[in-house]
Amino acid sequence: MIELPKKTIRDIDVSGKKVLVRVDFNVPLDIERNVVDDTRIRGALPTIRYLLDNGARPILMSHLGRPKGQVVESLRMAPVGRRLAELLDRPVLSLKECIGPRVKEAVEENPDKVILLENLRFYPGERENLADFAKQLAELADIYVNDAFGTSHRAHASTVGVTVFLPSVMGLLMEKELETLGGLLESPERPFVVVLGGNKVSDKLGVIDSFLEIADTILTGGGMCFTVISSMGLPIGDSVVEEDQIKQISSVMKKARRKGVKVVVPMDFVVADRFDKDANFRTVPTESIPDGWLGLDIGPATIQKYCEILSEAKTIFWNGPMGVFEWPSFENGTRGIADCIALADATTVVGGGDSDAALRQFGLEDDMDFVSTGGGAAMRLLEGKKLPAVEALTDR
Ligand code: ADP
Ligand code: MG
Repeated sequence: MIELPKKTIRDIDVSGKKVLVRVDFNVPLDIERNVVDDTRIRGALPTIRYLLDNGARPILMSHLGRPKGQVVESLRMAPVGRRLAELLDRPVLSLKECIGPRVKEAVEENPDKVILLENLRFYPGERENLADFAKQLAELADIYVNDAFGTSHRAHASTVGVTVFLPSVMGLLMEKELETLGGLLESPERPFVVVLGGNKVSDKLGVIDSFLEIADTILTGGGMCFTVISSMGLPIGDSVVEEDQIKQISSVMKKARRKGVKVVVPMDFVVADRFDKDANFRTVPTESIPDGWLGLDIGPATIQKYCEILSEAKTIFWNGPMGVFEWPSFENGTRGIADCIALADATTVVGGGDSDAALRQFGLEDDMDFVSTGGGAAMRLLEGKKLPAVEALTDR
């Protein structure tokens, strides 16, 4: 387990305190504004329960959707508050504002209720990280807790600005994310196998670079691997490629050889005659992707080979689907690899919004040891970059 340099809620006395908690309740709502997927709300429950069990009064705040600094009726937090109340089995008071005298009054008058502030992004000061908005948020409480790992790569009023005014510690979800993802870069049990897919190689270069320092094998798939294959001088038909990244990839491959890290590309693909759900498709070896066809999934031989490598791993990190898993004809690769990761006798960690969606589609979410709640934030952390909202917390 790695040592985190920042304080957590367990390091301070919260009893009798008003605690302002930044959570990530940016959940999908349906047209009737019911919460469609409450994973993120559940993710914050350990911290909220810890606070309640230790005599603190939680005041929760989050953003929801993209209201661009103004009130959007369909993006009010109330439906989220209702779902939270069900999950907590206690009353939650959803307010229609985030700051000001009415909010202060509601906090004072409802000491027994969990308070949920309105959508932070109704206020332009949130994204602009305005000191005045942050100060008014801070005035509501005695302590600040950040449990919103998913927004920790953004310096907003509720993630960074507020820390100037209050003792600031991380919540239990944030702690788990930082320990698990940070642990991958520090002391993974070997062999450490990384599976990388997704659509753009440019999004992944930073993490590839990090993993070249610590992984044993990187298995590639998805759209991003065609830039790798193209850099090897092989034809890729009409598959997605980022021409401007080919040079970069060549130097990554050179570095991999120097470091003794195996970077593996698929040996076969499911290719389609157009980018369409109902396209005609067939399986071909990697060397013979026909002109005019495009690779939309890894093939069966690749699944088998990757699964053999995964079965020997002791640590696995996976980011990025192996194919266009949203379309049934091209989901087999992602499903096959997810199955093998689920079965592996290894510590398994998954990051990335679409990878998470794929796991849910296959019902494999609970078969992983850890699924990160932060897409962009997880990638930033794994690139070895600092997360502004974490940096801003009080040192241990
Ligand atoms: P994550 O969100 O898990 O980090 P990405 O956003 O990098 O993953 O990539 C996910 C997207 O990549 C999916 O929408 C998927 O359809 C797409 N994708 C996967 N394989 C291919 C491919 N061969 N060609 C085009 N797009 C692909
Ligand atoms: Mg994505």
